[in-house]
Amino acid sequence: MERHLSSPQVRQAIQNSLDGGPSTISEPLPTEKGEYVEIIVTKAVAPVVYGSNPVTTRCPFCYNSMTTLVETKPCSKTHLLAILLCQVGCCLCSWYPYYNDTFQSKKHFCTSCNSYLGEYRP
Ligand SMILES: [Zn+2]
Repeated sequence: MERHLSSPQVRQAIQNSLDGGPSTISEPLPTEKGEYVEIIVTKAVAPVVYGSNPVTTRCPFCYNSMTTLVETKPCSKTHLLAILLCQVGCCLCSWYPYYNDTFQSKKHFCTSCNSYLGEYRP
């Protein structure tokens, strides 16, 4: 096992993973008996917490480092707050949740491949 970990292929696979490449790399290696074994290098990645502001992260789809594009849209809480404001007699204020970003959901997208990455809900 130790011999395999010191082989150039495995070291290259580990370095690729540390450089931000795919988190899982399969590398076939010839053994003494002429068989092939598959080495899988897996890198643990901390989950990204998406907030109300753009986040600088690595896209799990295209592996590019970028700052997310945030799209703000009304969510169910926005509508409920507007209805609640109407119910308490403040119908003129019911537009406020739609005007203020604090009461809307934020969807994060990759700026390189436009993939949906995550969402923040107030
Ligand atoms: Zn991407």
